[in-house]
Amino acid sequence: MRILVIEDERKVASFIQRGLEEERYIVETAADGELGLDLALNNHFDAIVLDVMLPKLDGYAVLQAIRGAGKVTPVIMLTARSTTEDRVQGLDMGADDYLAKPFHFEELAARLRSILRRSSTEKTTRLTCGELSLDLVTHFAYRNEKEIELTTKEYALLEYLMRNKDRILSRAMIMQHVWKHNFDPESNIIDVYIKRLRQKIEKPGQQQLIQSVRGVGYRMRDAVGIDDGTGDEDVE
Ligand code: CA
Repeated sequence: MRILVIEDERKVASFIQRGLEEERYIVETAADGELGLDLALNNHFDAIVLDVMLPKLDGYAVLQAIRGAGKVTPVIMLTARSTTEDRVQGLDMGADDYLAKPFHFEELAARLRSILRRSSTEKTTRLTCGELSLDLVTHFAYRNEKEIELTTKEYALLEYLMRNKDRILSRAMIMQHVWKHNFDPESNIIDVYIKRLRQKIEKPGQQQLIQSVRGVGYRMRDAVGIDDGTGDEDVE
């Protein structure tokens, strides 16, 4: 999942970024309201952490512009002030949650999981595909009870594929949901990561779960077929 953090205090921004990356999110940061708004309007994010006191454009103005553009991305607002009036203003303007500084990272992480669950159609903490399951809290994948450890990027890629099981996902869609916005769209990085992921989740003799769709991208299915050792299969 991709998270945008709009926060001008560098120490706070990097504290949040590090923590979220450990939780396997793909994180982008913006140090002022204008840049944050531009990123929010022109890219896909699964959630936004938005500070209220920001240079150029404050958090309320950023939120108003995001909602005004019809974007429903969940937003958690951060503020040093925590009067009832501030909280009400943020919530009335379309914020999904509110957190007063200083806060414990664990609380931000839990609230983020909560708003992501609310915005997702399924309220689950575990995704499954055939014999494979993915725990959205511990970030481990399991196949036949065996634990599979994933890097941040592998996790983000697998989660996106599993949330969209049975759907053909183009490389452009995968790029937009799993990589940072300034990534070179011409690179073959997605194919490289799909290959690594397959080595972890599809062992010889097991059902393959990730299907290559020639000229388009990939699709995750409960059962694609058994690997016959000839390498990746292609589907027209
Ligand atoms: Ca600030």
